[in-house]
Amino acid sequence: MEEAINKPKDEVCRHARLVHGTCTNCGQFVDDWHGVAFDYVQEGLMLTRDEIARLKDTNIKKLFDEKKLQLVIDLDQTLLHSKSVEKLNLEEKYLENIQADSGGGGLFYKLETPERMVKLRPFVRNFLKEASTMFELYIYPMGSEFYGKRMAQLLDPQGNYFDNRVISKHDLIDKGKKTLDLVLGQESGIIILDDDETVWPDHKENLITIFPYSYFSEKRKRKSYSEMKKDESESYGALAFTIKVLRGIHGMFFNRNKSILPCNRDVRILMRILQSKVLKGCVIFFSGVDDDDECKECSDFVVKAKELGAECIDTLDSSSVTHVVSWTRTKTEGESDGWAKKEKKFLVNQRWI
Ligand SMILES: [Zn+2]
Repeated sequence: MEEAINKPKDEVCRHARLVHGTCTNCGQFVDDWHGVAFDYVQEGLMLTRDEIARLKDTNIKKLFDEKKLQLVIDLDQTLLHSKSVEKLNLEEKYLENIQADSGGGGLFYKLETPERMVKLRPFVRNFLKEASTMFELYIYPMGSEFYGKRMAQLLDPQGNYFDNRVISKHDLIDKGKKTLDLVLGQESGIIILDDDETVWPDHKENLITIFPYSYFSEKRKRKSYSEMKKDESESYGALAFTIKVLRGIHGMFFNRNKSILPCNRDVRILMRILQSKVLKGCVIFFSGVDDDDECKECSDFVVKAKELGAECIDTLDSSSVTHVVSWTRTKTEGESDGWAKKEKKFLVNQRWI
């Protein structure tokens, strides 16, 4: 130890990077060592905290020079929905006879071993193409490494977007939560897109919660797209809306207040500003909310609408109401839905928020 201290600094290897226990700098095998595994970057790679900080710093500087931020994207129900073939219900069985896509442009895939159907979300290819010009993209599913890589191939058959940046459950230290510690960037420059906010307890400020894409049927009362033989709108669906939000944040980050260096800006502040403006000026009446089973879910939507800047009221007043959110899509049309049509108000369902 003393000898190490007396040596000139550059001769002492700090073993900042190990691959399968061997230091990539000096070649020494180091067994008593603590660091963080970064298998998704390279199998067996471990980095010291200092080395991680250094890499995060270098990478973010490089990205800022290219006018890019980082976007961390969940897979399931964010970019796609998948279901095991054996779990298809009677109303979905027809899918087995539909020709799956094989090339890189389609949205419907059948995988073997294990047999699984995958439906990519409408607009996803345009979304990734545009997002990749503004962000370094990460895929961050809760599933296995195998699943994550397989889905990344479907989404990015040419390998243009993700490279090795697929972080899966295997990489997580605490298996129940996702963390930005594994992303090589600073939190001030990272946006997360996920349908499930509960897996990001420490990074809510970075999170854009997207409405979950349920193509296949789930244990819900509402009919799924597959059962109705429909799909989410390509032009007005969640991804088409999200790319506009991302474009807005990206533009604000790089074009506003150019006197402030990118490293001193913070995407979380911009997200908060934008969030409070999304529904500003909207006065919303929620229709069809008296169904007991859906009350909890509905009240969450009211909270969210308020966070987005909307005013929510509980009486139908033709002078102030701008939007009627129709809670139930599959039930017969309610009284207020008819009212909205008569008064020419925007009638939208809860997916709109
Ligand atoms: Zn070393």
